[in-house]
Amino acid sequence: MIPINAPQIGEEEITAVIEVLRSGVLTHSLGEGPMVKKFEDAFAKFVEAKYAFAVNNGTAALHMAILAVGIEPGDEVIIPSFTFVATAEAVVLAGGRPVFVDIDPATYNISPCEIEKAITPKTKAIVAVDLYGTPADLKHIREIAEKYGLKVIEDAAQAHGAVYRSKPVGYYADVTCWSFYASKNMTTGEGGMVTTNDPDIAEKLKLIRSHGEKEKYLSVMLGHNYRMSELQAAIGYVQLTKLPSFLFKRRVNAEKLTERLHEVNQLQLPLEAEDCRNSWYLYTIRVKNANRDKRDLLLHNLKLRGIGAEVYYATPIHWMPYYRRFGEFHLPETERASAQVLSLPVHPGVNLEQVNYIADTLIEILNQLKL
Ligand SMILES: *Cc1c(COP(=O)(O)O)cnc(C)c1O
Repeated sequence: MIPINAPQIGEEEITAVIEVLRSGVLTHSLGEGPMVKKFEDAFAKFVEAKYAFAVNNGTAALHMAILAVGIEPGDEVIIPSFTFVATAEAVVLAGGRPVFVDIDPATYNISPCEIEKAITPKTKAIVAVDLYGTPADLKHIREIAEKYGLKVIEDAAQAHGAVYRSKPVGYYADVTCWSFYASKNMTTGEGGMVTTNDPDIAEKLKLIRSHGEKEKYLSVMLGHNYRMSELQAAIGYVQLTKLPSFLFKRRVNAEKLTERLHEVNQLQLPLEAEDCRNSWYLYTIRVKNANRDKRDLLLHNLKLRGIGAEVYYATPIHWMPYYRRFGEFHLPETERASAQVLSLPVHPGVNLEQVNYIADTLIEILNQLKL
């Protein structure tokens, strides 16, 4: 089976972890160990941010960002429903109410027009997700945020290395959140990062990461233990040096798929805007005339042929049992996409022969199923 994603770990990561183990410094009581700092500095430079805070996962990164921009119980936060559940979870953990809005069917990212319609006097922030590694329309979202005095958080968990309007993603947001989960473009097993250019937000992030402590045993605000260990940071630092080569391989695979599939009329292929670069975390196609059952049948047949295609996300968050309590949302584009999309493997472990096999097999099954 060609898996949808696979961590790319080499001897360099293994050596780096062993060195940390031998050093005896496994973590730091305020989350500021030497490896963590080295990783944060390198990551901040890579995404052109002033401040970076390493944390223990991407969900913690989002929760910290939500708290750091000042979301309090009763506040509304506008988010897409077509994303991983952590985006909504972070809002609810802070006592906020997630207000789900629809996507742009061409990019699958949150629609700026729909954002503006959902704003109320209780709205405090917008979370935009760079889904599949395709940058969201942050400049437009930033303009709306300024008009209404809202904060902007970017969930870039899938977008390491993505470029929006010639800048690394995150440039137009107040805070940007990253994940280093094992499936992502770079990994630390579990891990995350929060980046910002705002010194006040940076100060809060640092406090929230470790029990609200400025100094040990002197908490000045409510916090958590969201620290990253030195072991994870050592892996992350090496992975970051390899990220450009990972991104290059993903791009080669994605461009090959586009070349092989662009004449297949039944499919909508992923977009890459003129002055943007996708990170190609997932290569997501839409089977334009399929319903949910037909799409699932296609998925099943691909798997039978050894292709680990997956659906992100078959259940929009507003349909999940827990999240129904936040209201009844009618999101036709989100619901339609959730029934028609399908992601294909393009990770750095996939070679061109496999990409051609994926394209050939997909075309063959589409014809067989008369899709
Ligand atoms: C992976 C992911 C997260 C959560 O990251 P974890 O490190 O798994 O906690 C959040 N949002 C999106 C869009 C993701 O893909």
